[in-house]
Amino acid sequence: MSYSVKFTLNHEQDTQHFAQVLSKQVHSGIIYLIGDLGAGKTTFTRYFLQSLGHQGSVKSPTYTLVEPYTIQGKEIFHFDLYRLDDPYELELMGIRDYLDTPDGLFLFEWPSKGGDEIPQPDVVIDIQKSDDELIRLVTLTVNSELLAQTLQEQLNGA
Ligand code: ADP
Ligand code: MG
Repeated sequence: MSYSVKFTLNHEQDTQHFAQVLSKQVHSGIIYLIGDLGAGKTTFTRYFLQSLGHQGSVKSPTYTLVEPYTIQGKEIFHFDLYRLDDPYELELMGIRDYLDTPDGLFLFEWPSKGGDEIPQPDVVIDIQKSDDELIRLVTLTVNSELLAQTLQEQLNGA
């Protein structure tokens, strides 16, 4: 069963706020980031990591496939599968070892390119660009009704 919350990000500060809210609610598991190039998947991830306390840079792992972070003792992996030609490459790069990390948190850009090599998500963030340069339409899907209600209140104030 999945529960969705829809909201609008009117500018990048709203994306920062969304990342802050989510980082307080989701501490482990699999997050999918869906959306076209330039939708704001990496931008969201940057704010998410910063909101957990990360102070260094957040590079897009477009060429490295993954950037690992340890933030306040917590292990977080940011994947970008855009350039992946074959899901089997994930096997070769040792994705299973990453996924075995206890209480690990995994953010995947372009999860569709990972095929069966990546687990089903706990959270899906779908970001759509609009005609306006700054506005993004988000559909956030989670497995827990309680979490969906909490996020709905915090993001839509209702
Ligand atoms: P993706 O990783 O989805 O390809 P990026 O995060 O790299 O996209 O790029 C998104 C671009 O859009 C950034 O230049 C960012 O500054 C800009 N932007 C404008 N408005 C927003 C918004 N509301 N949320 C996120 N990014 C935005
Ligand atoms: Mg990106």
